Amino acid sequence: MTRRSERRPKPWRQGKTFAVGKLNRHIAAWAAYLGLADWDIAFSTTRVDKGCRSNVDIDMLQRRAAIRINSKTPVSGFDRQIVHELLHVLFAGMEDAFNVSASQQKLPARRILARYWKRQDEWVVERLTDILSGVPRIEWGAPQVWREAFGE
Ligand SMILES: [Zn+2]
Repeated sequence: MTRRSERRPKPWRQGKTFAVGKLNRHIAAWAAYLGLADWDIAFSTTRVDKGCRSNVDIDMLQRRAAIRINSKTPVSGFDRQIVHELLHVLFAGMEDAFNVSASQQKLPARRILARYWKRQDEWVVERLTDILSGVPRIEWGAPQVWREAFGE
């Protein structure tokens, strides 16, 4: 059974810069709060698909996940995206079960089910992110602070 921390992490109070190690500890604290303490969760920033704030690759068997945050995401939005992607990790088992079940269907039912799942999954993840992170949604077009934060 996974250990779970009862203490919800405090919102990330980033200054102009932050240490990556500190951010990794913050992610670990969120993972523990969500019952994912036994997962190996990597974090990086990168260019993600256009219009996508972040994404995550999940390896259920190895209990590994790689969270990538779009390098255009303002640092003030990191906390929200971290919680969002960790919730996808939390629901990965359900998605897996869904995929196995949907794969038994023929096209186009399989495609319709996949779209329906994706929409519902994102909706639930976003609602829970609102509740847990307390960080408002990122408005696109917000000032680009990434370079300042990392001194790149
Ligand atoms: Zn998502």
